[in-house]
Amino acid sequence: MTDLVRYGAPVGSFIVAIVALYISVRLNRRQRQITRLEIARNLHGELISDSAIKDRHTLGTIHWQNRSISSKGGERGDVMCAYFAMLWRFERLHAGRKVLLEENGNAHDIALTILDNQIRTHVQEYVCTFHEIRAKLTESDKKDPVFDGAYVDSFGELCRSLAATSDEDSRKKLRFHTNNSETCLCACHKVNPRPPLPGQNTRAAVS
Ligand SMILES: [Zn+2]
Ligand SMILES: [Zn+2]
Repeated sequence: MTDLVRYGAPVGSFIVAIVALYISVRLNRRQRQITRLEIARNLHGELISDSAIKDRHTLGTIHWQNRSISSKGGERGDVMCAYFAMLWRFERLHAGRKVLLEENGNAHDIALTILDNQIRTHVQEYVCTFHEIRAKLTESDKKDPVFDGAYVDSFGELCRSLAATSDEDSRKKLRFHTNNSETCLCACHKVNPRPPLPGQNTRAAVS
């Protein structure tokens, strides 16, 4: 009995320590997963915030109506602001998604899978939106070029990274407008081009 007490106590302590370590690892894993899910949620939130909704409305109406941008009044400036604001949102999203990927050894966990499923349609939509809005901005004032190179490159990287884990249909949509030899399936190309609305202020129209 004495020996049992003598040897049993350290063995009991060892088991308690192992159980404590196991619980700690499980809690850390759980906490890590909660943190990653929270980051993914915030990254998706970039695309659906109140300010993003306004910018998307500004760009979306012109894109889907296939309407030219007025060079008069405040419209061109508003569209330019919304265009860059959306590029920067996707840049932040790309940077955050990259950190989530690298932190997990470039493997998809539940947080990345949920994030990719949430953002895929938005990114696909903006492959055409950015292309068309940029063309319309350039057309509306050829003396005022759109300097968006690095941000467009970042969006292209996001498209390619997302395409790597997407199905064939999504992969095609994420590749469109990368060069002029491909045909975009976006419905905007079936809409007859419309002239600009003179002096229209799009931002004021939605606020
Ligand atoms: Zn298109
Ligand atoms: Zn389109």
